[in-house]
Amino acid sequence: MARHLITSALPYINGIKHLGNLVGSQLPADLFARYMRARGHEVLFLCATDEHGTPAELAAAKAGKDVADYCAEMHDVQAKIAEGFRLSFDHYGRSSSPQNHALTQHFAGRLAEMGLIREVTEKMVYSNADGRFLPDRYIEGTCPNCGFDSARGDQCDNCTKQLDPTDLINPYSTISGSTDLEERETKHLFLCQSQMRDTLQAWIDSKTDWPVLTTSIANKWLNDGDGLQDRGITRDLDWGVPVKKGGADWPGMEGKVFYVWFDAPIEYIACAQEWVDAGKGNDWERWWRTDKGADDVTYTQFMGKDNVPFHTLSFPATILGSEEPWKAVDYIKSFNYLNYDGGQFSTSRGRGVFMDQALEILPSDYWRWWLLSHAPESSDSEFTWENFQQSVNKDLADVLGNFVSRVTKFCRSKFGEEIPAGGALGETETALINELTTRLRAYEDHMADMEVRKSAQELRAIWVAGNEYLQTAAPWSTFKEDPEKAAAQIRLALNLIRFYAVVSAPFIPDASAQLMAAMHTDDTSWPEDVATALETLAPDHAFTVPDVTFRKISDDEREEWQEKFAGKRES
Ligand SMILES: [Zn+2]
Repeated sequence: MARHLITSALPYINGIKHLGNLVGSQLPADLFARYMRARGHEVLFLCATDEHGTPAELAAAKAGKDVADYCAEMHDVQAKIAEGFRLSFDHYGRSSSPQNHALTQHFAGRLAEMGLIREVTEKMVYSNADGRFLPDRYIEGTCPNCGFDSARGDQCDNCTKQLDPTDLINPYSTISGSTDLEERETKHLFLCQSQMRDTLQAWIDSKTDWPVLTTSIANKWLNDGDGLQDRGITRDLDWGVPVKKGGADWPGMEGKVFYVWFDAPIEYIACAQEWVDAGKGNDWERWWRTDKGADDVTYTQFMGKDNVPFHTLSFPATILGSEEPWKAVDYIKSFNYLNYDGGQFSTSRGRGVFMDQALEILPSDYWRWWLLSHAPESSDSEFTWENFQQSVNKDLADVLGNFVSRVTKFCRSKFGEEIPAGGALGETETALINELTTRLRAYEDHMADMEVRKSAQELRAIWVAGNEYLQTAAPWSTFKEDPEKAAAQIRLALNLIRFYAVVSAPFIPDASAQLMAAMHTDDTSWPEDVATALETLAPDHAFTVPDVTFRKISDDEREEWQEKFAGKRES
């Protein structure tokens, strides 16, 4: 039994996320966590809301709420939606937790001791119209690197170059649109990432099994131009973790908070403390401290490609720079973007399907299946309603759902609602078992490698094999000449339903639970040996014909939804 620490990128607090966000981190992380648990491994799966920073302040102001209240409410909203999608977090924490406050202050103090923090009096952009310093993300302008005209003050979304607001050409406030900006002096703390460059390069170079998508982004940031730059870790804001040196005050930094990029990833660790403090676990250090048992932990992070620089460089700079025995990430699984019906998802224009809306129109398994089987791994992928309808109707309804329906109904009509006895398996059954064995081993390999689409393809092929067997064996014909043989065939097929429930559960947990209930079993043991697994339900074991496992999406529904989620078009 191995030990797996799994984290998903932390969703930001200021609103409900769309399906592209879901498939870019939380959902594949859940798939992996569920699979590892199903194989008997010990798993700690953590996620949390990322709650600090100006966007939270602004969203709260817009909602007319105190920012702490707003974050508490939105955390509960996001937690409920996560439950709706059956995201099996061991704990869904909050970056605003007292645990994260203390740990963030600890890391800052420790990094200062290690000589990796310097105080900088810098000029920051102050907006006269807004009456405040503007955080980087609230200044936009033209990128000096590529000429993109909506580059943010911290990073250009077009060329991914890390920027300072003062680099921008023709900058303006995104709060008020005002160009009446001036530079004012203010003191901030900087993390000396440049001093960590060789350490980080050696660490990245040691990750020979990481995908090129991940290492190329890290290497670009490490080496492009002047290389990795020192970065400010504090801000002139009210909402956030107060700047302290461990438990002590930090002279000159009164009234300032840590910048959200510094405290958010530390929440991965603090979340494990929250998990213990919530009474769900009893030892977080054996997951996070290599001197206290975390040496044998495999730590995997899931995230969208835009989050890779923070997880390959910034957070490791904190972890490695502390020279304390923290567990560092072993593998980063990153994703490209999911586009929506010929364009991008857009929160501001209401374009695309958001997580709460998705659950209002169909159960989570429909979405989980489509999203995972079309995960944007090697390149961006696109959601279209035609493809969604086709995939649900074919894979889920025609292949898996139909198999279950035919087998259980046929058995009920000819043998009653229990596993029939008698007969023996023949060559057709042996061929099926051989095919299932080959495919299951391939599925296991893909799942262990986090090859999400390949896993889905293999699982679909496993479902198809059952249907093809049913066509070939045709127990309804066999029954007329040789009822004993038909009994053996249908006994195998009924066992195959349990088999499907077990191996499909990481993808479609609700349907799997429904099938397990229909088969009157809670034996979720993984089919290490397929032939043995297909004898689990013995003769005379009762079952119930389940209600429709998956329904089809009609053309009318597809058109209605397509219209409903199109959003306001750009003129
Ligand atoms: Zn650019």
